[in-house]
Amino acid sequence: MEIAKDLYEELERTYTQVEGEIPFVSRVPEKTLETWRKYGVVPRGAMREIMEIMHRTHMGVDQDYENLVRQCSRTALADGWGGSMVATEISDILFGTPKPLVAGVNMGFLKEDHVNIIVHGHEPNLFESMIDSVNDPDLVAKAKEAGAQGINLLGMCCSGAEVLSRHGVPHAGNFMSTEAVIATGAVDAMAVDVQCIKQALVQMSECYGTKFFTTNPRAKIEGAQHIEFHEHHPRECTDKVVELAIERFKNRPGRVVIPQRRDLGVHGFSHEYINYMLGGTFRGSYTPLNENIINGRIRGVAGVVGCTNPRVKQDWVHVELVKELIKNNVLVVQTGCSQIALAKAGLMKPDAAVLAGDGLAEVCETVGMPPVLGCG
Ligand code: SF4
Repeated sequence: MEIAKDLYEELERTYTQVEGEIPFVSRVPEKTLETWRKYGVVPRGAMREIMEIMHRTHMGVDQDYENLVRQCSRTALADGWGGSMVATEISDILFGTPKPLVAGVNMGFLKEDHVNIIVHGHEPNLFESMIDSVNDPDLVAKAKEAGAQGINLLGMCCSGAEVLSRHGVPHAGNFMSTEAVIATGAVDAMAVDVQCIKQALVQMSECYGTKFFTTNPRAKIEGAQHIEFHEHHPRECTDKVVELAIERFKNRPGRVVIPQRRDLGVHGFSHEYINYMLGGTFRGSYTPLNENIINGRIRGVAGVVGCTNPRVKQDWVHVELVKELIKNNVLVVQTGCSQIALAKAGLMKPDAAVLAGDGLAEVCETVGMPPVLGCG
């Protein structure tokens, strides 16, 4: 308990500190940190940086693009090297550090004869509690009494990618599939928390009789049923969602049409596992990766992360970009909707090494890893 409190106090500085440098600058490589300091982009604290950029972009304040870009970079680093890194560490402590596992993506993992529940959003707490709820023997028995074979839980979007990597929970699709999945008629309930919740999901759910729930007080949607999620008694929310999903299963209003497409791949390459994979328990390190970059077999490592966009064909940019990178011997690491796009394209399997250039393919075959690593 004392250690947890000390950790909390130390990491809270990432957000609240107004002077100095955020705690995780201690992880920045020396030369990079030198450059950040030289250009004045080391974040002091996330709240301070956000307040400052809000002020400086107000009418008639900062009018020098270089100066403004510098503050944009400092704010971005407060997010990426600050908030995101803290979130990753705390999630790993609470819910376990991911290790590679075989897991599936796509709508074919919906099951017509099961109560199907989708959790969609960004916060792991809701999902972890839902995993407990769907495995509760009383709720499973209720689902069976309603005529279902069981309860089938799937993820979507970023928190879906997280539990895909951490627990192997199947993923129904990324941001651009969240409306389409409702049209299968098979989704008995969709529970959302924050971010990337499409505006029309309430209307889509009404059309297909799906129960749609918001759970976070910061993200309510007109027309949705709100069941608030509280960290101190999480099951109150998630049990209720499961019960209402069972009700909907009993009274499914229309035909169910599930596209029979299932794509399996390997996910869960955490930083800790990549380190281990390259050297084993006693000599885990990035040295073999660095050596293969130095000797030219691998030309570098690219992070291809993030979102899909309705302005371009579904998944197309992500898939083509990553194919081109691996063909040119660049190892790719992925998170979010982009990871799901590549999983659907089959590049999260070790045999996708045939699409890589000779140098990267040789390293992948030696280690037994895919050329595209899904981090979650
Ligand atoms: S990757 Fe982007 S679009 Fe997809 S869920 Fe995350 S933030 Fe939303």
